[in-house]
Amino acid sequence: MPRYAAARHLYIHIPFCARRCAYCDFNTYANLEHRIDAYVAALCDELAAWRALADPPAGIRSVPHALMRADLPPTIFFGGGTPSLLPLTAFERILAASDALVARDGAEITVECNPGTDLSRDYLAGLRSLGVNRISIGVQTLDDRILRVLGRTHTAGDARAAYEAAVRAGFERINIDFIFGLPGQTHDAWLATLRTLVEWQVDHCSLYSLILEPATPLAAQVTGGRVSVPDDDVTGAMYEAALDVLGAGGYTHYEISNWARRLPGDAARLVPSNACQHNLAYWLNADYLGAGAGAHGHLPPQRTSHVLTVDEYIAAVRQRGIPLAERVPLTAHDLFAETMFMGLRLNAGVSLAHVRERCGVALDDAAGATIAELVAAGLLERDDHAVRLTDRGRMFGNQVFARFV
Ligand code: SF4
Repeated sequence: MPRYAAARHLYIHIPFCARRCAYCDFNTYANLEHRIDAYVAALCDELAAWRALADPPAGIRSVPHALMRADLPPTIFFGGGTPSLLPLTAFERILAASDALVARDGAEITVECNPGTDLSRDYLAGLRSLGVNRISIGVQTLDDRILRVLGRTHTAGDARAAYEAAVRAGFERINIDFIFGLPGQTHDAWLATLRTLVEWQVDHCSLYSLILEPATPLAAQVTGGRVSVPDDDVTGAMYEAALDVLGAGGYTHYEISNWARRLPGDAARLVPSNACQHNLAYWLNADYLGAGAGAHGHLPPQRTSHVLTVDEYIAAVRQRGIPLAERVPLTAHDLFAETMFMGLRLNAGVSLAHVRERCGVALDDAAGATIAELVAAGLLERDDHAVRLTDRGRMFGNQVFARFV
């Protein structure tokens, strides 16, 4: 078995959207649905190319990692873009092609879904029957007026119907994405959204503060004065409200932007049992393979990225199997820095044992003085097992992360 197979986490990028949202700068394309079939064929060929490697390509190898193998199940994550634009047969083909790379047995398999696509009970039940056991619904807001400003292709009613259909289709693990700090969004409207989340008893939610990406139509509207967004004080208060409402509503805040509904037994766990296992692999800086246009992979001592566009991707897979655009070498220091700034996003923090396992160094040898300074500044706290952000540190997370780079 090729050594890269020890990377138990697979990200698959689906770069198609019905329409570009006004705030989005992801690698995704509208009006290319006619290329889906050729793209899926190329994806299957790419996965077969990885599988067929007797050895990893020059310089790419995986670092088998005891802690990861013990703690995380295999994961497959279909992200986008809009994976739910794909027909069920496409998922069937891709999952079959991924079989020899990541064991489906016991795996967490997530599909990102957009309420503007066909999220009927039949479609979702079809995903379920293919082994998909977690879906992530991009709702963003329950305000129809703001959804129009964002250029989303669905209404709040569609989002609710999608969520209910997912429950009826048998999904027990459902994430909903929301954004706060949106144009015209009031604190009261955000509070109502949070209460709706609690009322629906959503299993998991990811809440992101709006980022105005420079090259997007929304950023141009804001700089042109045609649209205004809440200021930092208001968005800060919205984040605090999320901590309060979701905490009181039975959710565990386990990562800067992520909450999971508390289940029996969670009190004894560092991370709640229904946390997203695929994202945990990122936060624990595990190895993962990325497939699809523009996908990134993390296979120390390298990071990989793929060619970006749909046509480049299809052509590159035909020519060379694995369509890498770039391989960035990772030094031992890079690996340590990533382990710290990804791991500190988790409320459980970074354990000393994890740093030793992952980076082969003792935390204090690598960054003892920096940690002491950050503890003295009230930004980090530590005990015998781990170092983690304080509440104040969470507010200035980027400053803390920068100290490890
Ligand atoms: S649906 Fe998602 S990926 Fe597609 S344009 Fe909108 S935000 Fe971007």
